[in-house]
Amino acid sequence: MKIGIVGLPNVGKSTLFNAMTRAGAQSANYPFCTIEPNIGIVKIADSRVDYLADHYKPKSVIHATIEFVDIAGLVKGASKGEGLGNRFLAKIREVDAIVHVVRAFSGQDIIHVEGSVDPKRDIETINIELELADLDAKPGAPKLMDKPVIYCINNSHANADAGPPSYLLGKTIVSLDAQLEMELANIEDEAEQNEFMEAYNLKQSGLEVLAQTAYKTVGLISFFTAGAPEVRAWTIKDGTKAPGAAGKIHTDFEKGFIRAEVCSFDDFVAFGGIVKAREAGKVRSEGKDYIVKDGDIIHFKFNV
Ligand code: GDP
Repeated sequence: MKIGIVGLPNVGKSTLFNAMTRAGAQSANYPFCTIEPNIGIVKIADSRVDYLADHYKPKSVIHATIEFVDIAGLVKGASKGEGLGNRFLAKIREVDAIVHVVRAFSGQDIIHVEGSVDPKRDIETINIELELADLDAKPGAPKLMDKPVIYCINNSHANADAGPPSYLLGKTIVSLDAQLEMELANIEDEAEQNEFMEAYNLKQSGLEVLAQTAYKTVGLISFFTAGAPEVRAWTIKDGTKAPGAAGKIHTDFEKGFIRAEVCSFDDFVAFGGIVKAREAGKVRSEGKDYIVKDGDIIHFKFNV
């Protein structure tokens, strides 16, 4: 799944993106610094995966991920070719959802392209550009306005308790401090990370919240495969049937699908593992019409 990050210049997109990837995508105080979209892969934090990993102590643990694309160049007039113009608008047509970063931090030294900090106006500016781009788009092209949007309010930590602004009532919002997230992402030691989070009273990193919110917004769920070699989360669209889920792992699993042995994560925990869950009759044998649920632990039976 792909998520596009949009927003006016200097609102903190690259900072957020860098925090996500810990890579060195340029973060400079300059409006048009990022020309090509950057792609970062973000792990979806999931305590269920950690639990299964603790249980099986497998050789490898693989979390679900989301791809974020940092799309620079959206300014007033972008649909008319200002800034990087339509080049970047073509890029957002490919994404499943949009993260719209809005600047709420003041930062006197950081230039605002419109001259002042005004989140409501900035949101309108960007949305007007997206609408205009839709009017100009080729027939059949996916509409930008139809894509789910997550508003990411970049506020300094000190103001984070202000709550969601009234003009975003009913919208999906994640508030974070991009700079703080970057500092947190740069800490390698886990104990130090925890200290940092405690010092700022963060229960979870804003990036994790953003990734989880994006996952839900697009209608994705996770199922798990678990054993001594590997514990792994797999991403599927909510509503996917068992053979489709099997096909995520391998096309042969889908073609030769026989049955799926399924235990819910909750039963796995309640009975202390798959063996006890099976004894209690909590491991079901499901056929090709079974709709996979979030948190299912699945073992596929198939023919090759
Ligand atoms: P972009 O143009 O939207 O990608 O914005 P950048 O991520 O490059 O950020 C522009 C400038 O704002 C940089 O100098 C950042 O260090 C700074 N910045 C980003 N996020 C924050 C924030 O949450 N607080 C403050 N004070 N500065 C920030």
